[in-house]
Amino acid sequence: MIELNENKISKPHVVVVPYPSQGHINPLLQFAKRLASKGVKATLATTKQTMGSISSLRDVAVEAISDGFDDQGPPKVGSEDVFLNSFKSNGSSSLARIIESYQNTTFPVTCVVYDAFLPWALDVAKDYGLLGAAFFTNAAAVCAIFCCVGNGLIELPLRPVEVGCALPKMPLFKGNDLPTFLRKPESYPAYLAMKLRQFSNVDLADWIFCNSFEDLELEITEGIFEKWPAKLIGPMVPSSYLDGRIEGDIGYGASLWKPLSEKCKEWLQNKPKKSVIYISFGSMVSLTQEQMEEIAWALKQSNYYFLWVVRDSQASKLPKEFLEDVEITQKGMVVTWCNQLEVLAHEATACFVTHCGWNSTLEGLSLGVPMVGVPQWSDQLPDAKFIEEVWGVGVWAKEDDKGVVRKEHLSECLKEVMEGERSEEIRENALKWKELSKKAVSDGGSSDNHVEDFVEHLKCTSFSTKKPNGSLVS
Ligand code: UDP
Repeated sequence: MIELNENKISKPHVVVVPYPSQGHINPLLQFAKRLASKGVKATLATTKQTMGSISSLRDVAVEAISDGFDDQGPPKVGSEDVFLNSFKSNGSSSLARIIESYQNTTFPVTCVVYDAFLPWALDVAKDYGLLGAAFFTNAAAVCAIFCCVGNGLIELPLRPVEVGCALPKMPLFKGNDLPTFLRKPESYPAYLAMKLRQFSNVDLADWIFCNSFEDLELEITEGIFEKWPAKLIGPMVPSSYLDGRIEGDIGYGASLWKPLSEKCKEWLQNKPKKSVIYISFGSMVSLTQEQMEEIAWALKQSNYYFLWVVRDSQASKLPKEFLEDVEITQKGMVVTWCNQLEVLAHEATACFVTHCGWNSTLEGLSLGVPMVGVPQWSDQLPDAKFIEEVWGVGVWAKEDDKGVVRKEHLSECLKEVMEGERSEEIRENALKWKELSKKAVSDGGSSDNHVEDFVEHLKCTSFSTKKPNGSLVS
């Protein structure tokens, strides 16, 4: 049972529940840290499998939540439905247990901030009479499109003209730049259903947050906020890279793979300023062998320094001759995982070849690094479009009709961003967005104001936790 109590100032307790992947844990954990820095007790509830990837954090407690695969890890690709259903049932009961475990303590739970991929967490919060806040981890523009579909304003398969009618301030879509799940609804039915379920009960959420910021996306998403009243509170990037107000906040504090930080720093150290291309496809993308080869030979042909993250699972796709060549020329380095923020922030880094996952896109924008987008699926396509057409911070390397970005084209894109006609303009835009990102989360910035309002609401809310059957706990 929640009642607003203007006079009562106590320390509210927020439990933050991310979807268990790198691209979701990072921004939600960052939000937890941001809330803790403003006087809120924050607890991250994450799966047993991902708990070990969280470094010990001074201000955020960590609790285990079950996805039903605690010991063996999630099932392989193709069983998304099985995983999501299991997470829903096991996650709901273990989240309920966490909430109950804090009843009758100094810090009963006030609010559940849940990853919008997990709408069942809101049901649990509401069963206990708590506040519930949805956190969307995609670009606001992408959420806006999914929201239109979820609310029946646009039909599937998605067509550009309908997006234009529903969201008139969006740039003109061509078709192949729309999110793949919506353009080809049959391609990933489990993920599509999950993305649409984000809107199934969001009307019941007390707050809706999106990891973006107003200067970046408020205008292009005009028209959606009646249906989806989200507050843009990002970028959720560690404070030391932006406003610097959270002491010691130099990294996300979560890494599913071991970052080879020292090796990267050492290698970058003696490279000239703005001379290195950093390439990463995030934590999930799996490129074809053909695509890997095209990238490898584009790097060789371009002859710039490069640092390429190739996860262990992808390493066998690298051509042997390419690795031998790298060994001899020392032009590049291939690592299995790195601290991406450190690399992007390094003065030697000039360009970011990215799959345009939303965190990577925000990190590139926040650190002012020009980008070459090589999107693969999902929201990465519209993100690449915005990078090139809307924010002007890079170019989109397009695939051919066989779905492969060829080495000649990728080399041209690299050259364009590094030293081509548009390079200066791109660099200037990148610096502009870096400043605006910083402004948004700094004291009095648009994102900071929304977070402050949320914290104020939490602080003015007093609680007596309800049992799911409706009776009061105490
Ligand atoms: N990342 C990292 N080291 C790497 C590659 C990626 O720390 O070598 C981080 C990156 O900083 C980002 C996250 O992993 O925060 C990837 O999220 P994104 O949304 O970009 O892509 P996803 O992995 O979800 O496809």
